[in-house]
Amino acid sequence: MRVGLYPGTFDPITLGHIDIIRRGCALVDRLVIGVAINSDKGPLFDLEERVNMISEESRLLNLETGIEIIVHPFENLLIDCARDVGASIILRGLRAVADFEYEYQMVGMNRQLDSSIETVFLMAEAHHQAISSKLVKEICGLRGDVSKFVTPKVNMALKGRLIN
Ligand code: ADP
Repeated sequence: MRVGLYPGTFDPITLGHIDIIRRGCALVDRLVIGVAINSDKGPLFDLEERVNMISEESRLLNLETGIEIIVHPFENLLIDCARDVGASIILRGLRAVADFEYEYQMVGMNRQLDSSIETVFLMAEAHHQAISSKLVKEICGLRGDVSKFVTPKVNMALKGRLIN
């Protein structure tokens, strides 16, 4: 059984993330979505809220793809998390050149920590590529329409949190 780990902060989950999850499902038998607690990033949504939003979207993706999707919060080293969940591949999304530098370093370091775990990069559909959780929060906070970037449930959660 091939297990993939897709780690991130998912604050909140966007259509860009969902695009990558869908593509990841075509590559593995079980997909674990690793939700980084990342309290130092000062997330807008706490861990439980992020996990709930991801779980809801995962249920639909599981019905669509037939692939088992597990939501797994983690606070330890990514490589240790991959070992904990039995993942042989780590999935990451690549958006632009800006992502590349950081991801390049991460792969180099992680490979030295455990060479048996391969990192695979996926690109979202063109209209999902520019989406970032950070910009979605900024746009919504300024009362812009983010319905093209997140699901209706996440949109409601964002409005509830950012707009009085
Ligand atoms: P992190 O804190 O790890 O960057 P994110 O939730 O921002 O967490 O992103 C998780 C993963 O999803 C990263 O690999 C990121 O590059 C990828 N990702 C996020 N948005 C998109 C998108 N629009 N297209 C492709 N990949 C994306």
